[in-house]
Amino acid sequence: MNLARQAKIPTEWSQLDWREELKNNVTSVDELKEHVRLTPTEEEDLRKVVDVHPMNIPRYYLSLIDHDNPDDPIRKLSVPGPEELIVAGSMGETTGDPYGDDKHDKGNGILHKYSYTALVVSTEYCSMYCRHCFRKRMVGLPNDQTVQNFKEAAKYIAEHPEITNVVMSGGDPFLLPTSALREMLEALKDIPHLNYVRIGSRAPVVYPIRFFDEELIELLAEFNERKTIYVPTHFNHPDEITPTSTEAVQRLRSAGIAVNNQAVFLRGVNDDEDTLVNLMNDLVRIGVNPYYLYQCMPVARVRHHFQVPLKKGIDIVDRARRRMDGYAKRFKFIIGHDIGKLEICGRLGDKAIFKQIHARSDHPEEASRLLVRKLTETGGWLDDLPEVEL
Ligand code: SF4
Repeated sequence: MNLARQAKIPTEWSQLDWREELKNNVTSVDELKEHVRLTPTEEEDLRKVVDVHPMNIPRYYLSLIDHDNPDDPIRKLSVPGPEELIVAGSMGETTGDPYGDDKHDKGNGILHKYSYTALVVSTEYCSMYCRHCFRKRMVGLPNDQTVQNFKEAAKYIAEHPEITNVVMSGGDPFLLPTSALREMLEALKDIPHLNYVRIGSRAPVVYPIRFFDEELIELLAEFNERKTIYVPTHFNHPDEITPTSTEAVQRLRSAGIAVNNQAVFLRGVNDDEDTLVNLMNDLVRIGVNPYYLYQCMPVARVRHHFQVPLKKGIDIVDRARRRMDGYAKRFKFIIGHDIGKLEICGRLGDKAIFKQIHARSDHPEEASRLLVRKLTETGGWLDDLPEVEL
């Protein structure tokens, strides 16, 4: 846990107005230089990268960087690097949409890939632009248009009784004003076939200040009595678990909300045994359930430097699991693929075993099937690995 670094922070993050503090996000190289030491070469590279992929880092998250560590994970997750100029990676070609989102887009921001789940893109704004993000195509929409789109999405959900749960995603829904969130939740609360709502957010990790807004917590507690809310969040490294982010989680839990974690397995960030063990143990300690560990997607400008080959990755994850108790090792190591979600079960010699745990609604027969592939030294995605008999 990042106690030492938090102790050095002069600002009382909990006292800040979340809307005002967002305006202090670091978005230019000149601003960044006030917080982070950059060599002349780094500065030159950075200027090229931010022209292609904008930078947006909350001051809180920047304050977690250990400036004496050249491999600091917080820095890698937030500060652009020259590797982002590489479109196709050393591990093969990359694609813009490996999860196949676009094919399942029903308009008005709704993605309906699995029959029982509807994903609604509630906003395209995030408090930070994570360098490993697989949705690097961000366009801001005004709030009233966002709410209108959401109401149309809610109508679609009401007309599809097979949908049992909704994922409000983005972007980050918690970056919307509380009043907009209220309107959205109101639109869902009376749909009888809806069992629960997920609000996916990395804000507890990168912008915990949002959860010091009492009005938000009251809204969530109120709605949670009508439909159960879960918050899937996204801690990738134990250094992200600070007293401030822990407090944000506690506030969500005080509203009766279960918080589940969906980490991404990232080279140079958490691809070692100790880091994974510490991450999962710390999550359980603060009341967050480890749920998924995603294999990094083959996204252009991400894959080349962040994806870990599966052959190596399966071994790291397995060694780490051996040291975790039952609650810490509840997570599934997952590929979020175009065909559906695949659990990476493990390896038998040079073969990897996958189990498909969700299938597209037009291919229900694919759910629960096993897939076997031959591992290669560099293959980091299902499509990279040749089919093989068990
Ligand atoms: S908060 Fe999530 S959606 Fe937003 S940039 Fe980060 S990883 Fe991507």
